[in-house]
Amino acid sequence: MTDSAREEMEYDVVIVGAGPAGLSAAIRLKQLDADLSVVVLEKGSEVGAHILSGAVLDPSGLDALMPDWRDRGAPIDVPVTEDKFYLIGAAGKMRIPNWPMPPFMRNHGCYIVSMGNVCRWMAEQAEALGVEIFPGMSCSELVYGDDGEVSGVVAGEFGLQSDGTPGPGYEPGMILRGKYVLLGEGVRGSLSKEAIARYGLSAGRAPQKYGLGMKEIWEIDPAKHKPGSVTHTMGWPLGGNAGGGSFIYHLDSNQVYVGFVVHLNYENPYLYPYMEFQRFKHHPMVADLLKGGKRVAYGARAISEGGWQSIPKVAFPGGALLGCSAGLVNLPRIKGNHNAMLSGKMAAEAAHDSIKAGRSGDELAAYDETLRRGPIADDLKPVRNVKPLWSKYGLTASLTVGGFDMWTNTMGFSLLGTLDHGKTDAEATGRSSRHSPIDYPKPDGVLSFDRLTNVSFAMTNHEESQPAHLKLRDPDEPVKSNLWKYAGLAARYCPAGVYEFVRAPGGDQRFVINFQNCVHCKTCDIKDPAQNIVWTTPQGGDGPNYPNM
Ligand SMILES: Cc1cc2nc3c(=O)[nH]c(=O)nc-3n(C[C@H](O)[C@H](O)[C@H](O)COP(=O)(O)OP(=O)(O)OC[C@H]3O[C@@H](n4cnc5c(N)ncnc54)[C@H](O)[C@@H]3O)c2cc1C
Repeated sequence: MTDSAREEMEYDVVIVGAGPAGLSAAIRLKQLDADLSVVVLEKGSEVGAHILSGAVLDPSGLDALMPDWRDRGAPIDVPVTEDKFYLIGAAGKMRIPNWPMPPFMRNHGCYIVSMGNVCRWMAEQAEALGVEIFPGMSCSELVYGDDGEVSGVVAGEFGLQSDGTPGPGYEPGMILRGKYVLLGEGVRGSLSKEAIARYGLSAGRAPQKYGLGMKEIWEIDPAKHKPGSVTHTMGWPLGGNAGGGSFIYHLDSNQVYVGFVVHLNYENPYLYPYMEFQRFKHHPMVADLLKGGKRVAYGARAISEGGWQSIPKVAFPGGALLGCSAGLVNLPRIKGNHNAMLSGKMAAEAAHDSIKAGRSGDELAAYDETLRRGPIADDLKPVRNVKPLWSKYGLTASLTVGGFDMWTNTMGFSLLGTLDHGKTDAEATGRSSRHSPIDYPKPDGVLSFDRLTNVSFAMTNHEESQPAHLKLRDPDEPVKSNLWKYAGLAARYCPAGVYEFVRAPGGDQRFVINFQNCVHCKTCDIKDPAQNIVWTTPQGGDGPNYPNM
């Protein structure tokens, strides 16, 4: 479709993504100047539909953005009351006391929230200030101006047929232009990836690192429910096979978020992250909690783990990267929402000042500077060596040396400097010939579930007549390389069962992409060793429909 066939709309600021980052930017812009025109475009069917994070929220971001959030009915009302950290083996557990950890690691003062609901509430606040929010609108392309700057996005293209040609109900979408375009797509955003590559934003930075986070919501026996309780574990079942760990957060209404993160720099291609999560729930500590309860929702999403040394330049001509599009998660705290909000606020302030000064389409250098010396830097810098230590030397080194380094950093120095991450997660994957298969127990259907059954609890949906949004650079590569060199890794890393290798009787192996199952976690785009799978946005409204995660 040529751009000339599309209608255009002009705004002061176009924001991609109604997550905490994008919504904070929108709110801040309108707080600063009610006359600015601001639009937020969201690919989910409604705000919150694609927000996975049932989270422990550090309120510092919201405090800075809207200090009176408590009076505005924010759905943030379960304070953390209990904060436990265990190293676990197959049957036992050892509690690590809180006192050796630096104060910023403590969860007291934080809240257990449904981030989907927090985003729904933030969207109401933004709309009350006059922000236009359009859910169900995927932004599929960046639009460039005459000087090579980003000047807008294409959003809302619907009705392509499976061969990519327009179908009977085809709608070409619109071009939404802005003086600045802020990308708040979350982790591994597809437009953000394009901007990072085009403007060389990651030059001189360590590669971004990722984990795969999977989560279930359980309704449990009220007698076992402790609102405000936070538990983290490390150790079993991953052992030395991969970094990662679990979280168990008790919200209200007898709901518990049970989640598991697997660092995506694992080497053994036989590792099956989804099955690691399922088997984790059979640990006696978890099984006792969940017995008699029921799983009511499931979802998965990548989480950025590179931290301070991986943050790309966040400003580029005509726009900026916000939140997890820039990778602002504090890994040892497993928290990114507060930084997402702070980054949205900072970018909005820079965009507002530029527009007031009569500028547009240039680099918001002030945003990049504020991010690198403000509260986000204070949060991420002290923990910057935890991930590289974990990757190179394992869990014990990360807990001991990494813990010591966090302490010295709080005192203003580090004996380690800034460690590099080395390889990308895709490059870290080893050949199957050098690794052994892992035997996973079959899910019992009570505590653990097969992948496709669980995916039905993500309520994901993709119009089947459209082209697959998961594109292969080389259609032959999966069978030629992924299957033979990596034992068909793609069929295991996907937490939604999108990829399969299928052999017809007497025929050749085929690579099948069940894109309808996709939950938009982006793991394939990250972990595929040949970087052959490219995640692009499907049409708006498709994807998971997380109710209350
Ligand atoms: C399992 C897991 C547990 C976590 N736990 C915590 C926790 O306890 N505490 C915490 O603080 N953080 C936690 N995080 C991290 C936190 O979720 C992120 O830091 C946070 O979501 C980043 O916010 P964001 O606005 O940048 O992106 P997101 O929250 O991902 O929002 C991005 C939005 O943009 C939309 N979008 C993306 N691309 C497009 C496009 N092209 N067009 C239109 N819309 C688009 C998406 O649908 C989504 O709604 C966790 C993450 C995971 C995966």
